Amino acid sequence: MQDIIRLLPDAIANQIAAGEVVQRPASVVKELLENAIDAQAKNIQVIIRDAGRTLIQIIDDGVGMSETDARMSFERHATSKIRTADDLFRIRTMGFRGEALASIAAVAQVEMRTRRAADEVGVLLRIEGSDLKSQESVACLPGTNILVKNLFFNVPARRNFLKTNSVEMRHILDEFQRVSLAHPEVSLSLYHNDTEIYNLYSGKISRRIVDMFGKNYRENIINCQEETPFVTVKGYIGKPEFARKTRGEQFFFVNDRYVKHNYLHHAVLSAYEGTINEGSHPFYVLHLDLDPSHIDINIHPTKTEIKFDDERSVYALLMAAVRKAISVNHLSHSIDFDS
Ligand code: ADP
Ligand code: MG
Repeated sequence: MQDIIRLLPDAIANQIAAGEVVQRPASVVKELLENAIDAQAKNIQVIIRDAGRTLIQIIDDGVGMSETDARMSFERHATSKIRTADDLFRIRTMGFRGEALASIAAVAQVEMRTRRAADEVGVLLRIEGSDLKSQESVACLPGTNILVKNLFFNVPARRNFLKTNSVEMRHILDEFQRVSLAHPEVSLSLYHNDTEIYNLYSGKISRRIVDMFGKNYRENIINCQEETPFVTVKGYIGKPEFARKTRGEQFFFVNDRYVKHNYLHHAVLSAYEGTINEGSHPFYVLHLDLDPSHIDINIHPTKTEIKFDDERSVYALLMAAVRKAISVNHLSHSIDFDS
């Protein structure tokens, strides 16, 4: 009898991996935004057509890539962000798995222009379903300009699975908002079908919140800050009377990475207990900073779930921070009132 096990060709392996990383246009937006942030971009432009079905373009003014690196960046498990297993415990970058570009290029038509500031010319690569179609030198600005066209052009099942444009656009907005709130020091803009949706200037986190959600937030958010030798909590929470019926504007960032964490969410809600009605949802944008060796972000490809080695003390600190912020706000109100 013959042996029957075979290694899959790269293009197929990439397409399978893409199934995890690239679920919808918003996943592409997330991955490309994170790459731009990791490349130390100060200005990032996001251009979307047809809710990302036909075009997702991200232009950054980050460090750019050499010709060889540009080619390498589309290989699976190719990354400049970690080298050894130990580095996994020191991660400060958004990416490190080296999977995003390979996955995206497996299921779309990709055009990338990139140039390092020190290089005289840049390089333009065209890749379609993992195949390199062309490579040439181009004149371009320093940074990276990547176009992802016709997402899932070669995976009809995925394409058909996409929801309406407004649902897909909502997901894109969510990703854009998360990165924008994580990085108020970066200017970001978002266009959909030539309409400007956001044009955010770099500044403080409080300004980013107001620019993104509206002027009425200015008077309705409270600074929240607390720190131990291990963890720092920083950010803004909504005043109790600003709590809403609808959930959604609640953001945790751990070392600048947006995360979903029910247990920590519970810590915040507990701190509000007695100050808001049951069923109302408080606003919060809270940044937690701690040594990367105390967290594990490698449990899911999209890295929105993380594990803390000492969850309880993070819970306690968070709850204390929010409680204090609420009571300080309450106190300053009553002083205003008396005087
Ligand atoms: P990861 O971000 O996990 O390293 P990616 O597939 O997203 O994996 O990217 C592969 C590599 O390509 C990155 O490690 C980085 O060196 C390079 N790269 C990707 N996007 C950019 C960008 N916008 N600017 C500069 N370098 C980039
Ligand atoms: Mg990446």
